[in-house]
Amino acid sequence: MAGAGALAGRPVTIIGAGIGGLTAALALARRGASVTVLERAGALREVGAGIQVSPNAARVLDALGAGADFTTVSAPSHGVTLRDAAGARVLHMDFAKARPAAAFRTVHRARLIEVLDRAVRAAGAAIRLDSPVEVLPDAPLLIGADGLHSRVRAALNGAETPFFTGQAAWRALIALEPGAANGAQVFMGPGRHLVSYPLAHGLRNIVAVEERTAWTPEDWSRPDDPDTLRAAFARFGGPVPGWLAQVTECSIWGLHRHQVAARWHDDRRAILGDAAHPTLPFLAQGACMAIEDAWVLAACLDADADQPRALTRYQALRRPRCVRIVQAANDNARNYHLSGPRRMAGHTALRLADRLAPRAVFERFAWVYDYDPTAIDPAPAPPTVARSA
Ligand SMILES: Cc1cc2nc3c(=O)[nH]c(=O)nc-3n(C[C@H](O)[C@H](O)[C@H](O)COP(=O)(O)OP(=O)(O)OC[C@H]3O[C@@H](n4cnc5c(N)ncnc54)[C@H](O)[C@@H]3O)c2cc1C
Repeated sequence: MAGAGALAGRPVTIIGAGIGGLTAALALARRGASVTVLERAGALREVGAGIQVSPNAARVLDALGAGADFTTVSAPSHGVTLRDAAGARVLHMDFAKARPAAAFRTVHRARLIEVLDRAVRAAGAAIRLDSPVEVLPDAPLLIGADGLHSRVRAALNGAETPFFTGQAAWRALIALEPGAANGAQVFMGPGRHLVSYPLAHGLRNIVAVEERTAWTPEDWSRPDDPDTLRAAFARFGGPVPGWLAQVTECSIWGLHRHQVAARWHDDRRAILGDAAHPTLPFLAQGACMAIEDAWVLAACLDADADQPRALTRYQALRRPRCVRIVQAANDNARNYHLSGPRRMAGHTALRLADRLAPRAVFERFAWVYDYDPTAIDPAPAPPTVARSA
């Protein structure tokens, strides 16, 4: 793997074996670092749910040698169709036409974790399960991939309680109907929307989001009664009632987040993924950003033996992009849930765009999908030399 080789033999401790921590372990180990991952869970389990993985993240999986394994467990996604609550088409964003060579895919989170786990172990990194970190270890390099409640984030930025975003999301899996169309469908109603897409191996993923004023449960996610989900989306039409009729179990998440962290590192600690920039899932980029972070962090550390300077470069390369993505996901939340005259006007404008300039809609998001983390220049910017007049 190209790089100056500054990581060779260096010990790195990572807290968290989620998608971000495992990708970081892989990226660092493949550059020669001696990596240990500490995970509090006793097994790498994932609650049944799918995610969309766009080309910006798929490029990293390819570059880390996990692309073929990932392709086997994931399904292609040819686009996103926005529909109104009745099921009528509002707009179609055609990935396959806009970027035929790029990998837009969907995957069960557990399958992606398995792919990463296999690759991390093959690369020689150690994963220690049942290892909750209560006090941050005094490691020469400590990476916090410890999610929304990150201790490393708190050490760098001060303790903050995540805030409730006013959105709750159910997730469910059902069997995929024969001949199901490829790609994601988003059904938009006042104050709520439902996203569904096929996964590999005969499954359909459902994410149903409802605005709420408060989230009281102590836990962030919990199993819920499928009838509550059905009641919340009872006014939706098209295929939605048939899909929801099949849900036998589901969980609900109160969606919480922080602002994007102001400080991503000090001289020997850094954060990535949800620890740095938890986001609403309405642009399907939370895990994708974590995967991008992982590559860029390893590339910066490998390119520059001066660790504090490499970590400064990492934050400079990553933070502006993550701020922009988090904002775009917030904007989607507002646009999906419009009601009354604003909804009518919004949907009419989208329908017009669909007819007159369908490619232009994709191009508005091209900055998300065309980004290639493996092509960034990880080297520190040369010092500015003062010149006399
Ligand atoms: C409804 C919904 C839909 C989504 N859909 C998409 C999508 O389509 N595409 C997409 O890209 N993203 C999506 N996301 C976002 C994505 O799931 C997250 O952004 C991503 O999983 C974050 O990964 P992470 O590794 O940073 O954190 P996490 O997955 O939270 O992993 C953190 C890990 O650290 C461990 N840990 C925490 N504290 C400690 C400790 N003290 N000691 C030891 N271990 C610790 C945890 O056990 C966990 O394993 C969605 C999210 C939601 C809620």
